[in-house]
Amino acid sequence: MRIPLLDLKAQYLTIKEEIDRAIFDVLDSSVFILGPQMKTLEKEIAAYCGTEEAVAVGNGTDALVLTLKAFGIGPGDEVITTPFTFFASAETIAQVGATPVFVDVDPITLNMDPALLEKKITSRTKAIIPVHIFGQMLDVERIMEIAARYDLKVIEDAAQAIGAEYQGKKAGSIGHAATFSFFPTKNLGAYGDGGMIVTNDKDLASQLRMLRFHGCKIKYYHDEIGYNSRLDEMQAAILRVKLRYLDTWNEGRREKAKVYDELLKDSPIKLPGRDPSAKPIYHLYVLRSSRRKELMEALNEAGIASAIYYPVPLHLQHAFDNLGYHEGDFPVAEKACQEALAIPCYPELSRAEQEEIIRVIEGVHRGK
Ligand SMILES: *Cc1c(COP(=O)(O)O)cnc(C)c1O
Repeated sequence: MRIPLLDLKAQYLTIKEEIDRAIFDVLDSSVFILGPQMKTLEKEIAAYCGTEEAVAVGNGTDALVLTLKAFGIGPGDEVITTPFTFFASAETIAQVGATPVFVDVDPITLNMDPALLEKKITSRTKAIIPVHIFGQMLDVERIMEIAARYDLKVIEDAAQAIGAEYQGKKAGSIGHAATFSFFPTKNLGAYGDGGMIVTNDKDLASQLRMLRFHGCKIKYYHDEIGYNSRLDEMQAAILRVKLRYLDTWNEGRREKAKVYDELLKDSPIKLPGRDPSAKPIYHLYVLRSSRRKELMEALNEAGIASAIYYPVPLHLQHAFDNLGYHEGDFPVAEKACQEALAIPCYPELSRAEQEEIIRVIEGVHRGK
């Protein structure tokens, strides 16, 4: 049996006709940039998330950069985020010239621990970027309360969490702004790069629209130094088809996760930690084990893909050597990096495939 971590081909085959038609319609229209597909997708994503505005950009990294820029964050400023995330969450803070400041994660959810947050706030802090890691939201309202006391902006990095909820509220709907990525492997994935910012702040949205288009509101009249970061019509048309299936696909992932949760509950493996108020979308189903290496090898031998998210916490990345962090600074994130292993969890995964995966995992812990 060969089981990939994610099967994009299988997903495509389930919606091939609609996707192919959407692509050919764009070719037929011959409008490729800043066109009606992008504008309609913006409206649909805003409605889906329950926000006033959505601004489509080139990718999830640009979504963060443009939002930080639009909030006026730059050199001399500090922005707090988690060390247990994809590099872009902190890379973008450095890209605008500000300093990333890390706060350790909660040992159960692996999301930023709000209890440790306040100690990190200084007179230079301007914003907080909480990340909904692996598709499980954290309590953004609690972070908003802390932010309000210090007049900080909260940007949800919801790249892994489109459709996830916390106490019935959608990811992206609580912070001052939130960013999504449509990288092909995300739960809502384009067939190329793509990103989006959602917000209820009209001024911020208009600033973002200007920044993504070379700093102009009217073509060839440039009010600011901006960027070239747009979601193209082809990707927007593809995403509009896929958005209609997102809830079904997310539900499919939750069902697969439930099977793992139930069938692995008596094994010594640590299952993904849950916040009871959160409704996750399982962008990744991540186990934790002190015998990760053996586990990976056994899965690999059986033809089953698995992957380490993440091998190195951000405070120990060489690119951030200048920040002066050391091993031991964020013990929970560091331990997670030694133990975490994502296993296949996607809607098209069959029951037989899941049982095979479980059999291999249990074999390792029983000593085969
Ligand atoms: C994927 C991802 C990003 C970056 O998105 P791109 O579209 O690849 O630029 C940012 N943050 C997190 C947490 C991500 O998972």
